[in-house]
Amino acid sequence: PMSLTNKTALVTGSSRGIGAATARGLAAKGALVAVHYVDNEAAARETVEAIENDGGRAFSVRAELGTTGGVHELFLGLEQGLKERTGQTTLDILVNNAGVTTPAGVAPEDVTPEDFDRLFAVNVRAPFFIVQRALGLLPEGGRIINISSGLTRFASPDQVAYSMTKGAVEQITLHFARHLAPRGITVNSVAPGITNNGSAVFDIPEAVEQMAQFSAFKRVGEAVDVADVVTFLATDEARWITGAFIDATGGTLLG
Ligand code: NDP
Repeated sequence: PMSLTNKTALVTGSSRGIGAATARGLAAKGALVAVHYVDNEAAARETVEAIENDGGRAFSVRAELGTTGGVHELFLGLEQGLKERTGQTTLDILVNNAGVTTPAGVAPEDVTPEDFDRLFAVNVRAPFFIVQRALGLLPEGGRIINISSGLTRFASPDQVAYSMTKGAVEQITLHFARHLAPRGITVNSVAPGITNNGSAVFDIPEAVEQMAQFSAFKRVGEAVDVADVVTFLATDEARWITGAFIDATGGTLLG
């Protein structure tokens, strides 16, 4: 039997990239996965279809995070999708993955209050209230996994505002790990390094070669490299890990 049979999962931002690979990883172990997206309906549909073609179960949910009402919209779709398929709204596994980045970076001198507020609205405010809203749905043995970044431990001035949001995400992990331990729920952070999410820069061999140098293994991460770590944390085998920062950067932080 697969280790996540009869479990349910929500992976925010799982139409593409690390989230899509995570949705597929959880579904491959038997979980019913809610594939969340905002704009890219076709990509969300492709992720659901890929899961179904592999014999798994998934459904998509649209919600715009970082807006008033976004989290409410997310949970209406989630609870309806779960109820239709399981007769309940129990959510065993929550992966806070959706995030916005400043891809090319912005010099600290040039960060605007609007950029800053947008980063915090999507990357911090949304996951906090998603966790708060999920508290009533998570059973004993539940799992929360928050996607951070190696940039909380690797100075990169052009990504200071983004990195600040990930520092805040790690605080969600610390404090909720304590809060939820009495219920047997674990809360952990997974920090990717540079990871191929299918965006255009990963089609430029010279750029990939440069980015590869940050990893001790001298390659960029693939989405599945991170997804496999997240999937492990969701299993019962990871029950003794909580409040942890899991370095999934391929050795980028070794210095
Ligand atoms: P992508 O940019 O490839 O995908 C982002 C996902 O989030 C998409 O599913 C997108 O939906 C969704 N999303 C974005 N903004 C919103 C929003 N406002 N409301 C709802 N959904 C939204 O992400 P990655 O795979 O690159 O990154 C995933 C996570 O990993 C992020 O938290 C990121 O910060 C972190 N990370 C990534 C690294 C990397 O090198 N890739 C490195 C370190 C950390 P849609 O498809 O509909 O647009």
